[in-house]
Amino acid sequence: GEEVQCQYAVTCAGLYSDRISELSGCNPNPRIVPFRGDYLVPDSRFPFLGVHFTPRMDGNIWLGPNAVLAFKREGYRPFDFSARDIMDIMIKSGLIKLVFQNFSYGVNEMYKACFLSATVKHLQKFIPEITISDILRGPAGVRAQALDKDGNLIDDFVFDGGVGDIGNRILHVRNAPSPAATSSLAISGMIVDEVQQRFKL
Ligand SMILES: Cc1cc2nc3c(=O)[nH]c(=O)nc-3n(C[C@H](O)[C@H](O)[C@H](O)COP(=O)(O)OP(=O)(O)OC[C@H]3O[C@@H](n4cnc5c(N)ncnc54)[C@H](O)[C@@H]3O)c2cc1C
Repeated sequence: GEEVQCQYAVTCAGLYSDRISELSGCNPNPRIVPFRGDYLVPDSRFPFLGVHFTPRMDGNIWLGPNAVLAFKREGYRPFDFSARDIMDIMIKSGLIKLVFQNFSYGVNEMYKACFLSATVKHLQKFIPEITISDILRGPAGVRAQALDKDGNLIDDFVFDGGVGDIGNRILHVRNAPSPAATSSLAISGMIVDEVQQRFKL
């Protein structure tokens, strides 16, 4: 790739924020565990579907997302798999503790992801008229969930640097909790403040 020279650097690497942070000598924790969020969309054969969970600019409506463990950092499809990512999750993250602490919730999410009828039952709590024939599986996103080694979900910002000369010149945004897209302008202001303070600019 192209070499870029700079005095200071800020990284915001989402699903890879832990691996990028380790490059400048940061602690491996918190680790990123990928959770896929699947959406459902109306069946286009039945365009009259009247539910409005998340209306899109193109007229589509997305229902969801759920949250199921992804077997790959960029695992947008249910069977996407990466041995490296799985080993990382199982050995280095606190996922096993998280699973034991929230076993029934996790199983329920997996069950709903596998069986549309179970998801519909859940959606009917909000919109009783919805039936399984109204919906289809839609797109998915992968949430970069930061997890500490005790299995706690990190729900606050995590800024880090590293060690040595490079560590003093780099700011890693290791965790930007959701809704980080909606709040991106406010978050960028926060990152600028952190840069000024950290690098004494
Ligand atoms: C299903 C789902 C629904 C969501 N819904 C909402 C919502 O309604 N509202 C909301 O505000 N937020 C929502 N979020 C959360 C939101 O998407 C994230 O909080 C936000 O994107 C985090 O921003 P980020 O910049 O930290 O990471 P990202 O947006 O993931 O950006 C990281 C970037 O770094 C790049 N990158 C990674 N590694 C490297 C590398 N080695 N070299 C170069 N580039 C690299 C990636 O390609 C990516 O472009 C949702 C997330 C999911 C998964």
